[in-house]
Amino acid sequence: MIPNLARDVRAFTSNAFLVTGDRTVVVDAGANFDVVSKIRDHVDAVVLTHTHSDHVGNVDAVRDAFDVETWGFDPAQPSVDHELADGDDVRMGDHDYRVLHTPGHKDDHVCLYASTAEVLFAGDLVFENGGFGRTDLDEGDRETLIRSIDRLLSVVDEDLAAMHVGHGPSVTGRPYDDIELASRAARLG
Ligand SMILES: [Zn+2]
Repeated sequence: MIPNLARDVRAFTSNAFLVTGDRTVVVDAGANFDVVSKIRDHVDAVVLTHTHSDHVGNVDAVRDAFDVETWGFDPAQPSVDHELADGDDVRMGDHDYRVLHTPGHKDDHVCLYASTAEVLFAGDLVFENGGFGRTDLDEGDRETLIRSIDRLLSVVDEDLAAMHVGHGPSVTGRPYDDIELASRAARLG
């Protein structure tokens, strides 16, 4: 069970997941709500799928409250303390997640995939029901996004069990199909 701390929040925010276990990690901090009061005891690290403001707005509050550091693809971003490179493994909860650099929505976007647990954090690359990330913002590029979705399809197993996304509900019923659908939809849209 990986709770979304932004569940039921009405403000402009991404989802913010609390991955508990050996190493308690917040995946994306969200924005414009009090995430600190929703994290009960402690946090060992914050991992960012990308640095859009709706994902990182709460980073300073989490840093201050828990004296914790952050990991992301681009250490030049003020919200990123430590670099995560493509192919790195990052421990979250009780599993190692592979870092997949997946630009197209934003240059520093990564997905995080644990093949042992069959869990994926997809950020704003793909969403439920074949949704896919906006490419009309700065650094957005549809062709790049399509390549990133196709790379994701080539890496994750078809029996992927859970996909946690940056906005909207997590997918636990054959999320691989949702990614395939996103690949097709992004080519049409
Ligand atoms: Zn975004």
